[in-house]
Formats: sequence, C-alpha cells, structure tokens
Amino acid sequence: MASLGEPKNTIAILNKYNFVFQKKFGQNFLIDSRVLEKIVEAAGIKEEDLVIEIGPGIGTMTQYLCERVRDVVAVEIDRNLVPILTGDTLKDYSNVTVINEDILKLDINQLVKERNGGRPAKVVANLPYYITTPIIMGLFEAHVPLENITVMVQKEVANRMQAEPGGKDYGALSLAVQYYAKPYIAANVPQNCFIPRPNVASAVIRLTLHKEPPVFAVDEHFMFALIRAAFNQRRKTLVNALANGAGERVSKEAVSDALGRMGLSVTVRGEMLTLADFAQLSNILLE
Ligand code: SAM
Repeated sequence: MASLGEPKNTIAILNKYNFVFQKKFGQNFLIDSRVLEKIVEAAGIKEEDLVIEIGPGIGTMTQYLCERVRDVVAVEIDRNLVPILTGDTLKDYSNVTVINEDILKLDINQLVKERNGGRPAKVVANLPYYITTPIIMGLFEAHVPLENITVMVQKEVANRMQAEPGGKDYGALSLAVQYYAKPYIAANVPQNCFIPRPNVASAVIRLTLHKEPPVFAVDEHFMFALIRAAFNQRRKTLVNALANGAGERVSKEAVSDALGRMGLSVTVRGEMLTLADFAQLSNILLE
C-alpha cells in the first residue's frame, strides 16, 4: 500500500473518488510523513495499545497506527469517506474498525471497556478544529480511561491549553485542561502540511491524563463556575467578576474575605490565580 503521507498518493485517492472536501467537517488532510511520525512518536504508542482515532479522513494516519498497534478504532462522521477507508486505503489491515458516527455522540467509555477490558486507551487525531474543545472536554468529563490524548489543534488553542498564570493565553481552557491532564506541545505544524491549507497555524499537543486531580475541590462544578465567571470578565478584579457572574452564593464580601485568608490582594485578577488557588477559593466559599 502506497503511503498517503506522500502528497501525490493522497491526491491520487482524492481524484479516484472525486472526493469533495466538506468545510463544515473541518477537513484538512495531512500530507507530510514527518508530521505523522511526530504525532505517533509524541503519543508514545506501544504494540499492545488500543488507539482511538477521531476523524481518519482518507486514512493517512490510520495506516501509520495500524502498522504499529494491536487495535485501532477510527471514528469518522463523513459517510463519503467510509468506502474509501474500508474498501481501499485500510483494506489490507485486519486490526482496524471504522465507525461512521459523530464522535460527540459515541459512547467511548463503552467502547474502551469492550475492546480494552477497561485498561486505558490512547486517542490520536488530527482534530476537526470546529469542535476541538467539546471533543477534549467530553473525553475528560466522561472519565474515559485514557493514558493520553495526542492531537493536532490550532496553534493558538494549544498555547491556551498549556498556558501558565499571568499571560494573555491563560484562561478557563488552560485550567480545565490542566485539571485533567498535563499538556506538552510536541510540534508546531505549518499550513503547507495539509490539503486544503487551513487558514491558521497548527500544533501537536499531548495531554497526559492525571491519575488523580492535582488539586482537591469539594465541588468541582462550583470551582469551574468560579473559573468561568473570573475569565468572562477578565479585565475586572476577581471580586467584581465573581460578584457579577458566579451566582447568588458569591458576594463581594465573601470573596474579599476568602482572598484575605489566602494571602491574596483583594484587587487581584483571576488571571493571576493558579488552579490550586481556584480550588482553595471554591472550598473556602463553600464552608
Ligand atoms: N486524520 C485525517 C488526516 O489527518 O488527514 C483527517 C483530519 S481532518 C482535520 C478532520 C476529520 O474529522 C475529517 O475527516 C472529518 O470528516 C472528521 N470529522 C469532523 N467532524 C467529526 C465528528 N463530529 N466526528 C467524527 N469525525 C469528524
């Protein structure tokens, strides 16, 4: 089977099937074998792994995965791609299952349970950028047993996921991701590695899931409500942002008192607080 990491082989497949790219599905196919190798390397895949690939496209990365792991499940929403995958580009592999479904509707917990006996699987993908956050947060919040998620995302989104307190990229997404996983940007990927070329630069990020959350929040939903309120109005002081946006339970006085107990200034902004600070603040406000 000719590698689809070679642009001419990808173009041949696209022409053979008169494939029409669907913008609404975020279809930008990888045509650079070095990038494929980078992703697979960053994911640290092993022969015994179950890998779930989100959005295989014409199967470029799927072929790489099938060569290297025990079991691959590729979930693709576009039914026009299914005959290309099953009848052509993946037909020589017996260790792959193509599921024609919307990843946001699939019970991935059930899938991992059935195919991996509940042992952690890995997710590898060149993600459709229009649903990056729902896909990643969906996997985290459903507590799917995963070792890591290694994905191509918009570079700007990768920066936000990895950001530390104080910078312009730091926000609710950084805190949500870092509550569940340790992010590591493995590569920056320019536009010319895809067809069609996306309008934005991309990056490969690996999210290694924590075995236990790194901080203790009595009520994690409440902590995340505070985080969202803090960054909805990020130019305001935390006291004002929370009093306006975090519901009735949170008064200016209560937040000021809590910040005092934490040794923080009452004029501090949310962007200066670490995840541990938000956890502590939420716990104090619930006392
Ligand atoms: N993996 C291929 C590659 O690297 O060449 C394609 C990546 S392309 C950026 C994203 C893929 O995700 C497309 O094949 C698209 O049809 C698929 N996709 C989009 N939305 C999806 C969804 N909700 N569920 C599953 N697949 C989806």
